[in-house]
Amino acid sequence: MKLFASTLPSQATERDANDEKSSMKTYRKKRISVEEAVEGILAGNRYTLSKAITLIESSLPSDVELSQQILERIMPHTGNSIRIGITGVPGVGKSTLIETLGHHIIKQGKKIAVLAVDPSSQKTQGSIMGDKTRMETLAQDINAYIRPSAAGASLGGVARKTRETMLLCEAAGFDVTLIETVGVGQSELAVKGMVDFFLLLMLAGAGDELQGIKKGIMEMADGLAITKAEGDNLKKARLAKGEYKNALHLFRPDESNWSCKVTLCSALEKTGIDKLWGNVEEFVEKTTANGWFEKNRQKQNLQWMKDSIKDELIDSFYHDPKIVAILKDHEQQVALGTMPAYAAAQKLIDIYSKA
Ligand code: GDP
Repeated sequence: MKLFASTLPSQATERDANDEKSSMKTYRKKRISVEEAVEGILAGNRYTLSKAITLIESSLPSDVELSQQILERIMPHTGNSIRIGITGVPGVGKSTLIETLGHHIIKQGKKIAVLAVDPSSQKTQGSIMGDKTRMETLAQDINAYIRPSAAGASLGGVARKTRETMLLCEAAGFDVTLIETVGVGQSELAVKGMVDFFLLLMLAGAGDELQGIKKGIMEMADGLAITKAEGDNLKKARLAKGEYKNALHLFRPDESNWSCKVTLCSALEKTGIDKLWGNVEEFVEKTTANGWFEKNRQKQNLQWMKDSIKDELIDSFYHDPKIVAILKDHEQQVALGTMPAYAAAQKLIDIYSKA
C-alpha cells in the first residue's frame, strides 16, 4: 500500500470545468448508473463523487442497493488514504485547525477530504460544518473536498455513511481523509473505529472536567494537540503540555507500540502545524513497519461487518409486523414488573424467528 505516493496538485483546467458542467447536465436528467458512477469516481470527478455520496446517504432501498453495487466495484481502489480522526469540545478550534492543517497537507502535494460524524446534526440539521463559513478557504481549494455530516436515525447509521463516503473519496484519489467529531458522547468511539490516527484537541487551562474529556478518550488518542498556543496563552499551553505528558505516561502503550505525543499549535498563527503533521507521518511510518497499521485496518473491517450484522438484525426485528403488533404490550408488562425482562426478550425473539 502506497500511503505517501506524492501527487502533484491538480490544476482546475478549463476542460475539467467543462467536463463537470456537461456531466452535471446529463446526471440531472437521469439516474446515475453503476458504470457511470464508478468511472467518474475513479477519474476523480467531484460531481460524480457527490452524487454517489448522496446515494449512500439516502435511505431509499433502490439507492441503498445502487450505492452498495458502486462500493463493491470501487473496493480495489480504496485504502490508500491516511485516515485521521479529530475530536475536541466545541470551540476548541477543530475547524480552524482543519483549515490550516488542510492547506499544509495540500502544499505537500496531497489531496484532502474532510468528513464529519456528528450525531447532534440530526436535530440541528448539521452543527458540524453545517455553517458554510467554516473552512471557507479550504472549501475553495480544488485539492480539498468537504462534506458535512450525514443525517441518520442512529449513530451507527451516520457512522456507516461516513465510512462508506471515506471509501468513495479514497477511490476518487484523496490521499488524506480527516474525520471531525465533537468531543462528547459515543461519536469518538465510532470515529476511532474507522481511522488510523486519532487526534484529540485540548484547550490549555480549561480543566479536564470543563472540557468534558473523559479518561477513555485520552486513552484512545494517538496525538494530543493543545490549541491556541500563542501570545498570552503560550505559557499556560506549555504548562498544560507537561501535565498531559505526565498523565499520558500512566497509560500502557498498546499493541501499536506508539505512545501518544503532545504538541502545541496555533491554527491562527500557523505554528506547530509542521510538528503535528510530522507526528502523523512518523506514526504511519512506524506502525506500517511493525505491521500494526495493516492489522488495525483488518480489525476495523471485521468490526464493521459485525456492527453491520447487529444493526441490520435489530432494524429488521423492530420493523417486523409480528413484533410491531405485540411489542408495546410486552414493554408495558416488563416496565410494570409483571413479566421478567429476559423472558420477554426470549419470547419476542422466538416469535420473530418463526417464519
Ligand atoms: P470548533 O468548534 O472546535 O470547530 O472551533 P472553531 O475552529 O470554530 O474555533 C472556535 C473559536 O476559536 C473561533 O472564534 C476561532 O477563531 C478561535 N480559534 C481557533 N483556533 C484558534 C487559534 O489558534 N488561536 C486563537 N487565538 N483562536 C483560535
